[in-house]
Amino acid sequence: MSSIDLDEVLATVAEIIAEICSPQAVAILMWDTDLETYGDRFLFGPRKKELGKLAEAFADIETEGLDRRIFEVDADELGVSMHKDLDPVLCFPVTYDSRLCACILIAGADETEPDEIVEDLDNYPFGVALNHGWEFKELQRENVRLRGQYEEMESRTRMLESQTMELIHDMTSRDTLRTRQVDRERLVYWISNAVRSSVHIQEVLDLTVEKIGTTLGVSRCLLLRAVDTPDRLVVFEWHQQNTEPVKNLFYSDEGFEFTQAALEKQSPHDLDDPALDTHSKYNKTFLRKLGIRSGLIVPLVMRNRVLGVLFLQDCVQPRDWSIDDVSMIGSLADNLSVAIENAELHQERERQAVTDGLTGVANRRSFNENFTREFERARRYGETLSLVMIDLDFLKKINDTYGHQAGDEAIKMIGKMLRQSSRSIDTAARYGGEEFCLLLPNTEIDMAEQLADRLRRLINEEQIEGPGRISASLGVASYPLHADNEEALFQRADEALYAAKQGGRNQVKVATAAAEGFDIKNGRAIQPPPPAASVDPSIDNPQNPNKESMLDIK
Ligand code: GH3
Ligand code: MG
Repeated sequence: MSSIDLDEVLATVAEIIAEICSPQAVAILMWDTDLETYGDRFLFGPRKKELGKLAEAFADIETEGLDRRIFEVDADELGVSMHKDLDPVLCFPVTYDSRLCACILIAGADETEPDEIVEDLDNYPFGVALNHGWEFKELQRENVRLRGQYEEMESRTRMLESQTMELIHDMTSRDTLRTRQVDRERLVYWISNAVRSSVHIQEVLDLTVEKIGTTLGVSRCLLLRAVDTPDRLVVFEWHQQNTEPVKNLFYSDEGFEFTQAALEKQSPHDLDDPALDTHSKYNKTFLRKLGIRSGLIVPLVMRNRVLGVLFLQDCVQPRDWSIDDVSMIGSLADNLSVAIENAELHQERERQAVTDGLTGVANRRSFNENFTREFERARRYGETLSLVMIDLDFLKKINDTYGHQAGDEAIKMIGKMLRQSSRSIDTAARYGGEEFCLLLPNTEIDMAEQLADRLRRLINEEQIEGPGRISASLGVASYPLHADNEEALFQRADEALYAAKQGGRNQVKVATAAAEGFDIKNGRAIQPPPPAASVDPSIDNPQNPNKESMLDIK
């Protein structure tokens, strides 16, 4: 009876009653004070099922007699028919602290005298035991209910927490997305602006790789320009501070081979970690040297011609490029293609403006500009400047005999020889139809003569289809030895060329007339040469009646 577990208390109560009066069945109905009704019902004994019906009816309606010690329940009155073995059904109300706490129904007791049963029952503290058991059970129930509530609250809190986290994540990623989008829009704007406003393509491309690299947060951004030979390869590179530059790796056979392979595709494509990628068409050894975990190659295409590729590299974490990223870089690449093509056209126009189309040497206009510049320079620094004039022999005859094409080939050949035998500081130019000039800065007359004769021999050794070997006549003059101004130097060389023609052609002649005030025999000035007058082709020089035909400066 000292247990606080209701089931144990109930079992003990039922056992005690069984000992006192050996009933057929016992029902214990717990009274719920708060609800003022019977709560749980517990049945014991061999015929407890039958008593169960009565206990049910009793609990529903019985209110009378509960203030008595013990009384007999009238089953008929409650509408329940009971077997006579269960007669009588006695009700023993149990109180605790003067309040009802349970009703015990005892059916078919062998002791039929209720008072005697009560006397025996009174020996036991049923009220205390049942009340404690009941309260303990209620507490347990409350505990379970509270725990359930607590768990529900916990799970709701967890749900709310995860919803909040998701919300924060959403908001942050939306913010990051927006910032990224703004950065990218800025990048596109910057590049299209730079492309439109700058003619310095190198500068634009240098800044472009940096802007793309920093905006997209890659390890490196390279731009490989399309080239046909390794020595013409151009690589622009930007790299993170903690990433090694790899530009120089591209200036190798492997690098050139990689660039050629990259230029073959006209659409963007990504590269996987070379350690994992087994299908890549790229040289894996080379990719390993770059140390990339992933890469993106975007071609710069203009009218089906790949002008170069952008090569974005990630060395720390591999990256999955989104369609948006690729299309954004694609539009940057389109802008860059326009810029590169414009720059190429610009360069080509500039080159054409100073180059003779047939021979590839400088044209007459460019020669005149260089001549003025070099003469001015020689005069200022007291240096020598030699001029060789070259004229193809018997071109008219070649044209007449073998056709104009053969004549052109002969002219082209002279251009080729001039290009091959001139230094970078020299100016080789086609001055007229079959007349060439070679301007030799800082070259004394003897050296100029030797060079001219070497050129003569080279020309004479070449074979042209048709005429076979051809020849040229050359005239050489030097400043300050033969002339003290640009016009005079040109005239002296022209006169020397004329002398070479007169001498039988295929030869070199050096000017003979000295510059005014110059002792040509002793090679020194009789008096310092006067400062060069500004060149004015309209001033006739009586020494050269052919001036108008040969001299065309500015
Ligand atoms: P010389 O040895 O005295 O210089 O005789 P030449 O026939 O070379 O000289 P001439 O001045 O009598 O004739 C020059 C010829 O060169 C006339 C012209 O038709 C030809 N010529 C000028 N420019 C070109 C050209 O671009 N291509 C060809 N095929 N012929 C040209
Ligand atoms: Mg000629």
